[in-house]
Amino acid sequence: MKVMKFGGTSVGKPERMHDVASLITRDNESKIVVLSALSGTTNALVAIGDALANGDKREAKQKIDALNEHYQNFINNLLSTDAAKEKCRTIIAEHFEFLNIILKISFNEALNKDILAQGELMSTKMFSCYLEEKGIKHALLPALDFMTIDSYDEPQVGTIKVKLSQLLNQHKDIQLFITQGYISRNAKGEVDNLKRGGSDYSASLIAAAINASVCEIWTDIDGMHNNDPRIVKKTVAIEQLSFDEAAELAYFGAKILHPASIWPAQHYNIHVKLLNTMQPDAKGTLIVEEAGSVGVKAVAAKDGIIAIKIKSSRMLLAYGFLRKVFEVFEKYRTSIDMITTSEVAVSVTIDNDTHLAEIIKELEPFGTIDIDKNMSIVSIVGNEIAKTENVLTKLFDSLSDVPVRMVSYGGSPHNISLLVPSDDRTKTLQVLNKGIFGLE
Ligand code: ADP
Ligand code: ASP
Ligand code: MG
Repeated sequence: MKVMKFGGTSVGKPERMHDVASLITRDNESKIVVLSALSGTTNALVAIGDALANGDKREAKQKIDALNEHYQNFINNLLSTDAAKEKCRTIIAEHFEFLNIILKISFNEALNKDILAQGELMSTKMFSCYLEEKGIKHALLPALDFMTIDSYDEPQVGTIKVKLSQLLNQHKDIQLFITQGYISRNAKGEVDNLKRGGSDYSASLIAAAINASVCEIWTDIDGMHNNDPRIVKKTVAIEQLSFDEAAELAYFGAKILHPASIWPAQHYNIHVKLLNTMQPDAKGTLIVEEAGSVGVKAVAAKDGIIAIKIKSSRMLLAYGFLRKVFEVFEKYRTSIDMITTSEVAVSVTIDNDTHLAEIIKELEPFGTIDIDKNMSIVSIVGNEIAKTENVLTKLFDSLSDVPVRMVSYGGSPHNISLLVPSDDRTKTLQVLNKGIFGLE
């Protein structure tokens, strides 16, 4: 059994949904198809939640109506018969009724998660209507019945496996299953989600839970490229990445994959393929245990980073000092991405400022604290990077005009990370494209 995940753009137009139906019926292998919301929908739902959080019901109502109109047009072009259109409209109407009811009750964070879930619930139901109209036998698996996260927001493959196999066993005669990406239930049993871009994570978790033959991530580009194609003009697709390389790229900002989406596949050794819905025969990127080749493969950037410097000539070299510093971050469940040390100071970066004030307060007794906000981590990723000829020379030559704040090298054999002001992030990716890959 395999997993095929289609992202927002892959289902964002009626004709794309038609293409997805062809792609999933190209072979006879049984499969679980994971769908995102139509492109733009989750952003619209976030905006509706924001309007409600600000008490602006009028704006929320306008946005709900605009979204509804989009779905009415979509259904019109997705389906051919009046009967199928009518049935689909009735199903979608329930979701808009729900959004309209929320307008009348007092808003809270749990309700916001319910709002955010509507996108994937609607896309999968509409797709199911289309498959039904085409006479393609399938079953809808409600992700909310098997995708769960614990009280630390961590999904547990073991629990997902048990729940999912119970559901699959109820449909022994079915080869094709459709389910929602992104959405889950939390430890309280409420509707929750795996964070933005989370459908990739859903796909990888499902693939791990069913021990899938492969986890295919179908998107709008032919695989992982060597640089961010939204920022740099000339980029090329990478044929093969190791799980470690892919995980680093995803974590350090390559948007094509959710930051956490690689670990389930890696842990259960499920091959992952990144494929292009618009160019289904393009090779794409294969992600497996082996890197396939040595040297630098790609660069990526992650914004919203905060650098914290703790300066203390008195204490830094004392043993136990770093432990005390790390304990503060551990206490507030805030992970550190980069770390550099000198004799008198240590700098770390975090990407989550939820507990920044408390963290600073607890670090203050250790020394002088400096904070730099609006920073970006630029990561250079590859297998045994040091084996790329003159890698450090090429790197620093290209960076001569960039004010690099931190450098991390040697932590792993496949990553060099730089911390730069976010204002310089675009320039950094561009100069590295030329300096390291020779691409302009
Ligand atoms: P989906 O909706 O299918 O999940 P996403 O928008 O989340 O798609 O991810 C695909 C996008 O990721 C591409 O269109 C591309 O602009 C962006 N992207 C950023 N970095 C990379 C990279 N290194 N390689 C490929 N795509 C990347
Ligand atoms: N629809 C969700 C989002 O836009 C999840 C996803 O597309 O992966 O973030
Ligand atoms: Mg995505």
